[in-house]
Amino acid sequence: MAASDLYPTVQKDVARIAALAEVRSAGEWFRSQESRFAERQLEVARIAAPPFGEANRGAWLSDRFREIGLTQVETDKVGNVFAVHPGYGNRYVALSAHIDTVFPATTPLNVRQQGSRLYGPGVSDNGAGIAAMLAVAEALQTARIPHALPFVFIGNVGEEGEGDLRGMRHVFATPRWKNAIAYSIVVDGAGADTVVAEALGSRRFEVIVRGSGGHSWSDFGAPNPIIVLARAIDVFSLTPVPGSPKTTFNVGVIRGGTSVNSIPESASMRVDLRSTSMAEIDRLERAVATENQAAASQTTRKPQAVQSEVVEIGNRPAGELAQDARILKVIRAVDAHLGNTAQVQRASTDANIPLSLGREAIAIGGGGSGGGAHTLQEWFDCTGRDLGLKRILLTMLALAGTGE
Ligand SMILES: [Zn+2]
Repeated sequence: MAASDLYPTVQKDVARIAALAEVRSAGEWFRSQESRFAERQLEVARIAAPPFGEANRGAWLSDRFREIGLTQVETDKVGNVFAVHPGYGNRYVALSAHIDTVFPATTPLNVRQQGSRLYGPGVSDNGAGIAAMLAVAEALQTARIPHALPFVFIGNVGEEGEGDLRGMRHVFATPRWKNAIAYSIVVDGAGADTVVAEALGSRRFEVIVRGSGGHSWSDFGAPNPIIVLARAIDVFSLTPVPGSPKTTFNVGVIRGGTSVNSIPESASMRVDLRSTSMAEIDRLERAVATENQAAASQTTRKPQAVQSEVVEIGNRPAGELAQDARILKVIRAVDAHLGNTAQVQRASTDANIPLSLGREAIAIGGGGSGGGAHTLQEWFDCTGRDLGLKRILLTMLALAGTGE
């Protein structure tokens, strides 16, 4: 069924906005400015932004926000960079792009262009998102398109890996923003063919088992943390998980011991739990803890001599959009209008935070195409980027309303 059949009023609204002279000229402007967008994307990809080391990139972004003419440019205490394009009303439509990369500070940033292709670590994830955010902000400043709600642009820190969504978490914990953001559009990576409307939750733990340790011969009988942990892993690996809601677990790293003739003092494992349902993640978390206890008492006559500790090393909340969420109707109407085919997906992105709070949020791509994310061979192709930019712009304008 076409979106126009599903949501006729939203579809009409999108068509009306798309037909505005200012919006049409913004579409042409996107095409004519492509070489500048690519240049900016290369420039930002050359600034290292490892997790917890995004400050230089944040400073670069504040300069770009000011240069474009956005107002209220500021950096919060965790390093998120904000800028506003004013409107009417006190709730905002937010457009955000994470500025961190997965690459450590020492990674050589061999960033280069060959024809329509850009190469280098982070050039697409999230160079494409940052470039799209700046292009759309500049279009709004330049074309003077009428709209009601104001827009806030956010370059946020800490999306990748151990960043654990700390930037977005901070935005939605700040009194200034937590209730003021009515809709969140997260731009992450390249493409225009997906809509992330469901947040995949995950939780990561380190489980550490400790004992007194000792000599393999003279202290034989002392509790052995490696054996306790091995038994716990064995039992845990048999824990049933549902196919729906899809739930998975992984033991990804084990460590422990000092030498072959020593009873180890400690052993540890790292566990990754994922589910579309937080209740399932909670259940698995309890299973990890109780099976660990049980393994200690089965393995040794002195279970009290074994201590185990479960340390959380990552926590991304699950959540999903309500079926009748306005943001989903709008993006589907925009895609129908542009003749763009996009699939609704579930993933772990910055949108997890607003979605877990019951807010309207989606994650989409910044246009063009890309590949090799999280590798040194990462690439982005600028061809057709304007479709992705128009898609973002129309979605923002339809969400903001044009005050009619
Ligand atoms: Zn990303």
